[in-house]
Amino acid sequence: MTAVLDARRSMVEQQIRARGIADQRVLDAMRALPRERFVPSRIADLAYEDAPLPIEEGQTISQPYIVGLMLEAARIKPTDRVLEVGAGSGYVAALLGGLAKEAIAIERHASLAALAAARVEAVGRSNVTVRQGDGTLGAPDKAPFDAIIVSAGAPEVPPTLLAQLAEGGRLVIPVGHDVRSQELLVIERTGEHRYDRRSLGHVQFVPLIGTEGWAAGGAHVGTHRAAPAVRIGHHDRQAAARTIADGCEPFESIERAPLDALVARIGHARIVLIGESTHGTSEFYRLRARITSALVARAGFRVVAIEADWPDTAAIDRMIRKRPASALREAMFSRFPTWMWRNREMCEFIGWLARRNETLEPAAKTSLHGLDVYGLNNSIGAVIDYLARVDPFAAEQARERYACFTPWERDPVTWARAVTAGLAATCETEAISTLKLLLEERLRYSRDDADAFFDAARAATVVSEAEKYYRAMYRSSRESWNLRDRHMFETLLALLEHRGPDARAVVWAHNSHVGNASATEMGTHGEFNIGQLVRERFGNQAYLIGFGTDRGTVAAASNWDAPMEVKTVRPAHEDSYERLMHEACRLLPSPSKAFFLPLRAPHAPAVRRELMHARLERAIGVVYRPETELVSHYFEATLPAQFDEYIWIDETKAIEPAELPASFVEASSPAGRPAGAEVPIKDTVPDTYPFGL
Ligand code: SAM
Repeated sequence: MTAVLDARRSMVEQQIRARGIADQRVLDAMRALPRERFVPSRIADLAYEDAPLPIEEGQTISQPYIVGLMLEAARIKPTDRVLEVGAGSGYVAALLGGLAKEAIAIERHASLAALAAARVEAVGRSNVTVRQGDGTLGAPDKAPFDAIIVSAGAPEVPPTLLAQLAEGGRLVIPVGHDVRSQELLVIERTGEHRYDRRSLGHVQFVPLIGTEGWAAGGAHVGTHRAAPAVRIGHHDRQAAARTIADGCEPFESIERAPLDALVARIGHARIVLIGESTHGTSEFYRLRARITSALVARAGFRVVAIEADWPDTAAIDRMIRKRPASALREAMFSRFPTWMWRNREMCEFIGWLARRNETLEPAAKTSLHGLDVYGLNNSIGAVIDYLARVDPFAAEQARERYACFTPWERDPVTWARAVTAGLAATCETEAISTLKLLLEERLRYSRDDADAFFDAARAATVVSEAEKYYRAMYRSSRESWNLRDRHMFETLLALLEHRGPDARAVVWAHNSHVGNASATEMGTHGEFNIGQLVRERFGNQAYLIGFGTDRGTVAAASNWDAPMEVKTVRPAHEDSYERLMHEACRLLPSPSKAFFLPLRAPHAPAVRRELMHARLERAIGVVYRPETELVSHYFEATLPAQFDEYIWIDETKAIEPAELPASFVEASSPAGRPAGAEVPIKDTVPDTYPFGL
């Protein structure tokens, strides 16, 4: 019981007050109401998480901070009569009961309305009535209201709700022409026909479905203005599928997919970015490994950079290039999601790299690097260990400065929260000064071993950028996303510089990082990504490849930090690019259920014409929630502007988690094959697989 009270108190202090919500009545109301009684019992222990949570009927209970923000903006007095549209769990309705004289809450789903009513009653809020119905039409019998809170995203402000506001009344409502993204508006009625409005910033709510909201059944999925164009009828889909089938290069299996034409299209590009539409699909790992091995063996690519932590990947790089080993503070890739790099498919690829490198001169070997901004603790360890070897005095200085992160280094998220709440100091100066200390001695340090210096300097950069990243997470998801992708881009540039003027690189990351963000909904929200930055810097010298699938299984978790599960991927939404690809497969000669689809002009005029309209696209990350898929995993994109090529595999399987080997080279090359020849990846699996660490 005390644990729950503590969690609730800390939710109010750290998630709400620390972010600037100061209305004492709101804070008290949230401190008094048991939020765990408003979520399904199986996730009661997550009730005080800093996030929206899934509830019944595929809906959500809003993030506590957003609830606090909306309630404060509504300026509710004890004498007010208030309305909530979108009662969901009943949590906000119950809070309103504590703040106002009377509250009406309307919920569209009958079963949810009944549950919300029971939950509100169970906490003793007798001044709250929950009704089932279409809340966009308000409650004419109880109007006017002193405050109206709409807890779902509307395409426009419903005129009926405006009319039901009392003079001086406040309407707090998320509004956006995009079904998955809104601005949180506060509209105050200042006269009979006068309304003032201001914005509280960008939010993401489930859609408000009703007469003055979005149409049910996804008919307005996409945007209001684009709805008729985005909505794809059966006939249009057939035509688009036919064009795709005519323009694609089908293949039968990952192992036999012909790569010559793709390698020719890539031509002289300096950077090839290869995406994935999930973080847990075996076929994506295996085919991008085959493509990469072809680029390494045939086109002289010498850098492979992946969406992984720098120090952990550096440990693998040391193995595959036979550089001196160096210990990690935390086991390699032990941070969630462990399966992303500790898997059988990855073992096969790094085994191949190790064998290929074996007979090559150091400058010709392929290196493997992590682009991501995470991995704070291992990066701190890498910097100190390096300095201890080359300059013990500087190591001592670095140790003192990095002590700022102790005891948070294993849990930077908690640290950032504490900084936001004013309970811990930032470590910005300490991180930057350590990086400077290294860079100032660049010439001296790198004389003996330029690779080791480069490793340490990048690790120090990660510490400095991670420090900023974790703090930014508490300010805005856009800021932290952009910081992360800029860091990936700058790491890539540093790698190209380090490996020499003719270095060419392959990047592996999720589609949402490598597909040009400006061609997707992300761009509209002010987010960019490494794909966009690379495109802007390298133009046609960059080749962006996306991957997609319709159905099958995927390795993913249900929540952040939760265990990996093998989940079933739902067949793609009917308004998505994926559905078009799936239908195109039916038009291919059997048994092909996969293809390469060139999208770059001038290779694909007909396909570009057909696909150059925004449609839905699916992104499954390390978390997959099929039950709320449309809202949580689909976004709008224009495929031919996002990628130069799209690779489709209709049905796919989850990756297989596995431990990475301590040494790849001893794992022996398959007999009779020259080390490092380009081979189908499958052939490289050693008999002793999987290795122990
Ligand atoms: N305040 C709620 C909470 O914290 O649990 C938020 C619930 S959820 C974000 C939004 C709810 O709005 C969903 O339960 C959805 O069914 C409901 N909804 C959507 N359109 C609606 C409408 N026109 N009328 C009433 N409820 C609606």
